[in-house]
Amino acid sequence: MIHGFTITPTGAAALPHAGKGALPLFRDSIEGKGEPVMSTWYPEADLVIQHPKIYTVAITCDEVKEGKTDFPIIEDGGVAAKDGKVIAVGTATDVQQFIGEHTEVIDASGKILTPGFVECHMHCKWTGEQMLNLDFNGVTSRQAILDALKEKVASTPAGEWIEGDGWNELIWEDSQEVITRRELDEVAPDNPLILLHMSAHTVAANSRALEEVGYTKDTPQPEGGEIGHYDDGELDGMLYENAALMPMFAAKPPLTEEQHLQSLELIGQRLNSFGITSAIDANLNYKQMRAYNEARKQNRLTYRANLMFYLDPQFGSFEDNLRRLEEMDCVTGFGDEMLKLNGCKVTLDGITAAFTAAMSRREYRQRPGFYGDTIYTQEEIDALVCKATELGWQFGIHTIGDASEDRALHAFQEANKIRPVKELRHYLIHYQLPYEDQWPIMKELGVGVCLQPTLVSQMGEEPLFWPEQVERFQSPGLMFSNGIIAGGSSDCPVVTPDPLLGMYYAITRVDETTGKTLSKGDESKVTPIQALIMWTKNAAFFSHDDDKMGSVEVGNFADMCLFDNDFIAGNVEDYRTTKVATTILGGEVVYER
Ligand SMILES: [Zn+2]
Repeated sequence: MIHGFTITPTGAAALPHAGKGALPLFRDSIEGKGEPVMSTWYPEADLVIQHPKIYTVAITCDEVKEGKTDFPIIEDGGVAAKDGKVIAVGTATDVQQFIGEHTEVIDASGKILTPGFVECHMHCKWTGEQMLNLDFNGVTSRQAILDALKEKVASTPAGEWIEGDGWNELIWEDSQEVITRRELDEVAPDNPLILLHMSAHTVAANSRALEEVGYTKDTPQPEGGEIGHYDDGELDGMLYENAALMPMFAAKPPLTEEQHLQSLELIGQRLNSFGITSAIDANLNYKQMRAYNEARKQNRLTYRANLMFYLDPQFGSFEDNLRRLEEMDCVTGFGDEMLKLNGCKVTLDGITAAFTAAMSRREYRQRPGFYGDTIYTQEEIDALVCKATELGWQFGIHTIGDASEDRALHAFQEANKIRPVKELRHYLIHYQLPYEDQWPIMKELGVGVCLQPTLVSQMGEEPLFWPEQVERFQSPGLMFSNGIIAGGSSDCPVVTPDPLLGMYYAITRVDETTGKTLSKGDESKVTPIQALIMWTKNAAFFSHDDDKMGSVEVGNFADMCLFDNDFIAGNVEDYRTTKVATTILGGEVVYER
């Protein structure tokens, strides 16, 4: 038995959240004696899982901040669930009593059980929409992409849009020269064609697509973005940052309602196949939020979705965005256990590869004297965060460069004068270049960070940074040792959402593109147990759900994963090969391999 959630002989004390079924009842005689006796009554569980080794992650975020990382691990464990919640956790024998006539029993002998994984920063709806497109993620040949496009064009009626996603010239083995308009026109003369880079900050378009959006060689450069040109002044089809990208996406014919719902089903299946049962979905527009609502109503949502309301120049000026914020009458927390509003999101700078990240301590390694700039000024981001804070919104800010990080933290400090930021849990997304002088501020304000170890290890950005910057890249271990909550995430569709791969990179800090370690010392790495905490309890912090998910405890949602081998206690290379066997959401199996 494990202290803290032991099942008592009456079954009552251990079930504080289990409601009426938890009380001991009087019942009629046993063995014909004819007199009432005090007896024990156990509610009949909907689901009982027997004999797994349970990694409970029964630890609080406050304890994590204080440096604690241990929690009960139960050999030959048992979990009982009823009405979507966990009603008992203990040994296999302990949960035996909850098995009734209608209980589904899973024998998990030889398996391990973890909480369902939580993803604290990705783009679920967008990924689902991309799953309707050509997928070039991980394709290492430029020619293979051109061949796939030719094939697609041959089977697509003239005039119909063709879209591909995920290309990354840095991993092409035949040539790293990006594919620009003239080459795309040869492949697709009669279809608008757009190819989104894996960073999601760059698009390559052909002439038909450029015509549809109305871009010509004389179009003025949009503020905060860039329309690319060849040396001869003609458009090269390359578009950089949202300011240039969004008009292009807006020119596409909209998805039908059924396509919207399909996209949520597709991403749901994909997340469940990686053991993910809850995610924060960033950068949503109203249409996408409506699609979620419809999917929820039609019971087609298979993960708990936390939606971020996006405040971006694509929706108008800074003043327009401030007004949108004020006009939205619901705030963080609005919704239910399957679908609710998370925070406001602002992308404060871009990405390093496009020189759109905002640096301050050091200039760009490849552009002497150039530092980049934030998308909103200090005054603007202060005003947005303060207004959101006043209204009761949580705030998450995309920061890659250190200038951007400092500005975001300054805005949080300003907001803290209005209302304690600690309560709302404002946070930084990416936090690629952590600096020591920022940590006391973050600790004081309770500002957490959503990290993406897979992204950092697979992007191949090392040559773009100074060596001392590379050594800092998103150091999860330093967050643990400095009292800052670090949540696990992927930024999918940029990279795979697979939490086990993310854990692998957080533990090893290996740069997949160079084979080198990203850290100066071991202190920036995490232990396997800390890695598990990142994708469970810590990630749940960002949606204010750490009191009901991210651990297998009585009263929590019955969201769990089963695995055939104990990768957490095994060789670290096991993280790369282990696959989820079963994913359970609210006591129901949503994925089985
Ligand atoms: Zn993102």
